[in-house]
Amino acid sequence: MTKTNGGFEPVFCTVVPPHILDKLAQHEDPALANPARKTLERDAYERTHRRLTTVIGAPTVAPPAGAAADKPHRTIYDARHHTDLPGKKVRAEGSDPGKDATVNRAYAGLGATFELYLKAYERHSIDGNGLPLNASVHYDKDYNNAFWNGEQMVFGDGDGEIFLDFTIPIDVIGHELTHGVTQYTANLTYFGQPGALNESLSDVFGSLIKQYTLGQTAVEADWLIGAGLLAPRVTGKALRSMKEPGTAYDDDVLGKDPQPATMDGFVRTGRDNGGVHINSGIPNHAFYLVASALGGNAWEKAGQIWYDVLTGGALKKDALFADFAALTVTAAKARFNEGEELQAVLKAWEQVGVPTSS
Ligand SMILES: [Zn+2]
Repeated sequence: MTKTNGGFEPVFCTVVPPHILDKLAQHEDPALANPARKTLERDAYERTHRRLTTVIGAPTVAPPAGAAADKPHRTIYDARHHTDLPGKKVRAEGSDPGKDATVNRAYAGLGATFELYLKAYERHSIDGNGLPLNASVHYDKDYNNAFWNGEQMVFGDGDGEIFLDFTIPIDVIGHELTHGVTQYTANLTYFGQPGALNESLSDVFGSLIKQYTLGQTAVEADWLIGAGLLAPRVTGKALRSMKEPGTAYDDDVLGKDPQPATMDGFVRTGRDNGGVHINSGIPNHAFYLVASALGGNAWEKAGQIWYDVLTGGALKKDALFADFAALTVTAAKARFNEGEELQAVLKAWEQVGVPTSS
């Protein structure tokens, strides 16, 4: 793999996994199949384009001089249903909300993400150094996805048949931006188990951003990723469930949520970068178990342990589940000594079938 600017691997992470879009693309109703097919083609193009630009060396965006590190620096662009990025600038930091609810949700979601990382973990933006947060909304037509392209967020409006506006779930915004945090820290390889850990960390912090914004405890949280994103005709509540992986949807068009909750259900596949959006259910569920066992606000203890592992420097880019699990044990001891936190971590990994001594 080619080294890129700053030593980062090329990153292109979409929120809707290919197994869902593949299934949709094969539907006999063109109103369902066409947007999915177009979205897959667009994703393939963006993925290739991203690889090329990162290899050549994308320009790094520095925070503006004088910008305070404890304040976000957000810019929202409107792609106006085209695919040229970023599009027309429609909202800058500190400006009042406009008429477009999509623009306002994107702005608020970037702010909520910045806020959780700063308030809970003293992290200054995605790179830890005040990186400006840019997002483009209304990307393409009927585009059924949202992604972080290594530099910015991009949101589609959805086709309205299966997916609604991708700025609706705040955890989806947090999920995508957390791919940026991972890119700047552990930089987990986006394939197989390290890829599933990369996906899981985005779900964990995406959900925590939602919980922090709503002021919810672990018990009150829904632990869903993408609630509100599925159109009313779909039988399902979200894209994924951390509480009960495999139960987020069961629909005649989308099929059934394929996520396992434990290693017994681990899926071996060449699709989806080796099942990164599928096997992420296992570490997702481990996090949910730790957070529920400890109670209170999940970002304070469980989230702190996971954050310490992500940013602590010991997590290798090709880490397996067991490597990650062992590091959460170390982090729990380092942060909270041998108390209930450590016991919760050990028990959670045992419950999902991942050994903690690798
Ligand atoms: Zn992702």
